[in-house]
Amino acid sequence: MLNFAVGPVEEFGETLVIGGERTPYFRTEEFSEVMLESERLVLEFAGAPTGARAVFLTGSGTAGMEAVVLNVLREADRALVVNGGSFGSRFRKICEIHGIPHDEVKLEAGRQVREADLAPFDGKGCSVLLVNKHETSTGVLYDMDLLSDFCRRNGMLLIVDNISSFLADEFDMAALGADAMIAGSQKALACAPGVCVVVLGPRALARVERNRQRTFYLDFKAALADGARGQTPFTPAVGTLRQIHARLKSIAVAGGAASEVARTRALAEDFRQRIRGLPLAVASDSPSNAATPLHPTNGQSAYGIFVELKDRHGIWVCPNGGTLRDRIFRVGHMGALTTADNAALAAALAAVLEGGGTGSAAGASSARIAKP
Ligand SMILES: *Cc1c(COP(=O)(O)O)cnc(C)c1O
Repeated sequence: MLNFAVGPVEEFGETLVIGGERTPYFRTEEFSEVMLESERLVLEFAGAPTGARAVFLTGSGTAGMEAVVLNVLREADRALVVNGGSFGSRFRKICEIHGIPHDEVKLEAGRQVREADLAPFDGKGCSVLLVNKHETSTGVLYDMDLLSDFCRRNGMLLIVDNISSFLADEFDMAALGADAMIAGSQKALACAPGVCVVVLGPRALARVERNRQRTFYLDFKAALADGARGQTPFTPAVGTLRQIHARLKSIAVAGGAASEVARTRALAEDFRQRIRGLPLAVASDSPSNAATPLHPTNGQSAYGIFVELKDRHGIWVCPNGGTLRDRIFRVGHMGALTTADNAALAAALAAVLEGGGTGSAAGASSARIAKP
């Protein structure tokens, strides 16, 4: 299978080799070195401010989102959640479950956030902004300069779920004045799932220090204390952490975060170029380099296209859920993909779209799509 999903993504050969190795004992100097070097590289690639720290949690990206809310926020906060899709609404639910008062900036699917969307909340006493920099469910890369200005103006903390955008799009935590950033192992890091990384700036660290402990497993105080000597409070996903370390080092050798972002952008642009003649519209105001959300303009079901690509062409793309199920599917550009892979997907898409139009030959596949 050729993997154009948005996570887990196509892994590099060196990552697969590590995946096949035995899991070493980890309470050792050697493993501590691995972790300390990984922390240093993550801070560098995130453009983290002086004094920032990174913690590695065993859990998928959502564990990182919940951990930030539990450790950095408190009931006295008023959070503002940018909600343009399922990841925005995940932040909202996390706030709700943990009793954090919150408002939301609700955006229709595929739409960029604008000044007018924020205006109702200007000067209204919100203390923290929670945003998924790339709302992966709809493929919108938010205007971080706009959000950063809004936070500065209102004296708010800025918490960025950068899970599907870290190493795929530019990100400079210090320049944005972001206080926390979350990344996940199975997106542009292109490793096995199971680890999330949270970078905390000085203001977030001070809050962690001051806040009462609200979680045992996801407690940052413990993770930071042990992390200072390259260790974790509990048994981590050792294999995935070794993959992350190797991948970070390879990116460093290739030129750092900027080179990885450029590589991903080139793949995204190449793909968008190749599908120009096909009945597909990019369904986002502002797509990320990480993925292209596509809407079939010939009436075919987006979910049906996902199934056809998987079952007949050996290619994974990502379907959407809920009301977008038949309207949008997403093509990822993260991980070990090439322009030759893009050519293969474009050819498969041309075949699927031709075979699935409104004409007679299309009848069979459309019917199957309509009633899965
Ligand atoms: C993938 C992703 C997550 C995390 O999802 P998990 O399944 O928990 O790894 C969170 N936010 C965004 C924007 C994502 O793309």
